Amino acid sequence: MTIPDLGHCAGSGAPPVEGTVKEDAGEKSGVCPACSGRFEVHHTGVVSVHDAAEVDDRERWPEGRDGQ
Ligand SMILES: [Zn+2]
Repeated sequence: MTIPDLGHCAGSGAPPVEGTVKEDAGEKSGVCPACSGRFEVHHTGVVSVHDAAEVDDRERWPEGRDGQ
């Protein structure tokens, strides 16, 4: 049975939005530039492969929010 490769966000494997990377208990996470969800960041500095975040899971970017 083939599982369709749906839901992988286009931002998978891209660097997270600058200024959003946080380290918590040795685990880095950052905001995906495509779907604005927060995901694990690999030691190579890119966002792990993930499904696009639901609207409720999206984070605000540190800059450019609300017309700032
Ligand atoms: Zn994403």
